[in-house]
Amino acid sequence: VSAAEHSAAASGERAGIFPAELLDACISCGFCLPSCPTYVRTWQETSSPRGRISLMRALEEGTLPADDPTIGEESSFCLGCRACESVCPAGVHYGELLEHWRDHLWHGRRRGVKLRGLLWLVGSKARVRMLGLVRRHAKGGGEAEGAQLMLGCFERGLYPQVSRAAQTLDPSLRAPADQGCCGALHAHNGELERGRAMARELGEQLPGTIVTTSGGCSAHLAEVLGRDRVRELSDWLTDSRGAAADPGAGEPVRAARGERGPGVNPPVGSGGAPGSAKKLRIGYQDSCHLRNGLGVHRQPRELLARIGEFVEIKGASECCGAAGTYSTLRPKDSKRVLSDKLDAIEAARVDVVAVVNPGCYRQLADGVKSRAELKDVRVAHLAELLVEAGWSRGG
Ligand code: SF4
Ligand code: SF4
Repeated sequence: VSAAEHSAAASGERAGIFPAELLDACISCGFCLPSCPTYVRTWQETSSPRGRISLMRALEEGTLPADDPTIGEESSFCLGCRACESVCPAGVHYGELLEHWRDHLWHGRRRGVKLRGLLWLVGSKARVRMLGLVRRHAKGGGEAEGAQLMLGCFERGLYPQVSRAAQTLDPSLRAPADQGCCGALHAHNGELERGRAMARELGEQLPGTIVTTSGGCSAHLAEVLGRDRVRELSDWLTDSRGAAADPGAGEPVRAARGERGPGVNPPVGSGGAPGSAKKLRIGYQDSCHLRNGLGVHRQPRELLARIGEFVEIKGASECCGAAGTYSTLRPKDSKRVLSDKLDAIEAARVDVVAVVNPGCYRQLADGVKSRAELKDVRVAHLAELLVEAGWSRGG
C-alpha cells in the first residue's frame, strides 16, 4: 500500500489516482452491465463496469490496497472495449478511468516480458520504421497540402497493403516514412503519460489532418490531439467530397486473386468474380474504440453497402477479443470472446468480414482459419475491399 493510499484511508481523503470528476460521474445505475462482455460471461458484479468503478473508488479512498488480488485481476480482465461508455446515461469516461487505473497499478510492475517487449518494440521511431522496412509500405507521395496518413506500428509490419490501399483511394494522402507510433498501447497498458507524449510527438511529425486506418489509434490520437485533427479512413472517405465521387457504387467487389495485396486470406469463391452478377455478402466488425470512443460506425457500413451486399453480423459492435494487447496477455479469455464472434460470423453466412483495425484483422483472420466451417471466409481491411471494387475518393 502506497503512502498516499494509507493517508487517504486514515483521513478519508482521496489518493488522487483518478481525476475526481471522472470517478464521481458514475451514479451506479447499472445500465452498462448488459453491454459488458466480461459481465455477461461471468455474471460477477466485480467483472462489470459498475463493479470495477467501485474497486477504483475503494482504491482511491484507501479502503482496498493496490495489491488487492481482485483489483489486480479486474484491471487486467477488463477488455478496455468501452462498450459501457456508449450506453452510460451519466457520460462516464470509463476508458480514461481504466487508463489511470492501469497506470497506477501497472506502472513499472505487474507487466510481464511479453508486454514489456511489445511496448519496447513500438517505443521508438527507429524501431517502428524497422517494422515497415521488412515489408513494402505506403509511398511518401501525395500533395504537399494533403492530409497525412498515419502508417501505424504493427499495421506497418503486418498489413502494409492497408496503407497502400488508403493511398490508392485518396492519392492526396501523404505518408512520411519517418513517423513513430501513436502511443495507444502504452496509454492502455500502464504508461499513460508516455502514451500521451508519443501521440503529441506524432502530431508534430504529421502536421495538419491525420488520417488513420486503425480505429484504436484514431481514438487515442483524437483524445490527445483533439477530434478536429484526426480522421479515421471511413470517416474521411465519406465526407461531402468523398461521398460524391464513387465510380463503383453498386458494383460487385472484384475478387480476382491478383488484385489483392499480400498477406490476406484466400479468395472467397466465385461469387464476386469479374463479370459475375452476384454480389459478395460483406459483414463488418466494429473497432471498439472507433465506435465507442469516436462514434464512427455508420460510415464503414455505408461504404461497404456500395460495393457488395452488406450483412449486419449479430453482435458486430461487441469486442472480438483482440483488445490491443489482451489476446497476447489473456489468450484464454480472448479466445472465449472470439469463439462467440466466430459463431456469429458463421450464422451470418458472409463471404467477407471487413475490419478497420489491425488487432481485429489479426484476431479474426486467425479465427476463421481455426474453424473449418469458415475456411472460405475472407477477412480484409475496408480499404483493401474498396480498392478492389474500384472505389476512389475524389476520383
Ligand atoms: S458507468 Fe454509467 S451506466 Fe454504468 S453504473 Fe456508472 S453511471 Fe450507470
Ligand atoms: S471496457 Fe468493456 S470489458 Fe471493460 S468494463 Fe467496460 S464494457 Fe466491460
